[in-house]
Amino acid sequence: MTPDQIVDAIAALFEGEGAEDYLGEAVSQAQHMLQAAALAEREGAPPALVAAALLHDVGHFRGAVHGRELMAGAQDNRHSHQGADWLAPWFGPEVTEPVRLHVAAKRYLCAVEPDYFDRLSPASVHTLGLQGGPMSAAEAAEFARHPQAADAVRLRRWDEAAKEPDADDPGFEHYRPLLAALATAGPVPPVRADAAS
Ligand code: FE
Repeated sequence: MTPDQIVDAIAALFEGEGAEDYLGEAVSQAQHMLQAAALAEREGAPPALVAAALLHDVGHFRGAVHGRELMAGAQDNRHSHQGADWLAPWFGPEVTEPVRLHVAAKRYLCAVEPDYFDRLSPASVHTLGLQGGPMSAAEAAEFARHPQAADAVRLRRWDEAAKEPDADDPGFEHYRPLLAALATAGPVPPVRADAAS
């Protein structure tokens, strides 16, 4: 499978399930992820981190993974891991690990920045509880040692900000060259045929 074909598979997820609500926010999944990428770009983030911002919630797409337990009340920070694992055959750790750590980064920021909690949307406060709440001091110290911790924290701040119903985004196709340049050939992605249901 060529990089272009991998990007086609991701584009199809954005066009299909991406139109669905983003877990209680005022934007769709696709708008949210595209806004996060636009914020990363505006800050001059390197291409891999722009890609991570764009793809950070791919684990919420049923077509990629079975990640819909979250708002049903299950204890969960799995969408970050499932998304990272789904991306790993085609993208390197500079893309996949900020995706993997973006839920942990919320728990980290709530532990180390006293006012961070106040910036969370109601839905994000709800999931914070399911995800284990703010980190302990020991957990935060361990998180900070991860090579991609700083990138995950940057991604997390864009994630929080990317929930504006009226914000413009450049659209998925804007990111096609960036994604294709980062992707390496890999196996056929396991996009489920019944994902539209
Ligand atoms: Fe998000």
